[in-house]
Formats: sequence, structure tokens, C-alpha cells
Amino acid sequence: MGFNDRGGNSRGGGGGFRSSGPREMHKATCADCKQETEVPFVPSGDRPVYCRECYQKHRPARY
Ligand SMILES: [Zn+2]
Repeated sequence: MGFNDRGGNSRGGGGGFRSSGPREMHKATCADCKQETEVPFVPSGDRPVYCRECYQKHRPARY
């Protein structure tokens, strides 16, 4: 067993992971512009969900 085996196919399991496959998207309403959008996670209802444009506005600036 090598420790240098990173990046390989070490993720065993269902086998549904594709490098460029479509992600499961969930419909949500943007908390800002109220437009319908799709997010790659399940909206919890606890946090506001933003569409792409509003997400850019609301994401913390790291630079
Ligand atoms: Zn929006």
C-alpha cells in the first residue's frame, strides 16, 4: 500500500462520480432578486440562497 496513491481511483463506492458530469441541481428562489435559480446543494431554508449574480455580490471578497 503506497502513500503516493493520491489522485487515483481510490474513491470506491457507488461509482457515480464523473469528472465533468452534471451535478444534481435543486431549484431555489434567490433571496435577493427572487428569481428562480438552481443550486448544487439542497436549500435548507435556513440560509438564504442566491442566484449566480447575487452570489457574486454576497460572497465575501477574499482578494
Ligand atoms: Zn439573485
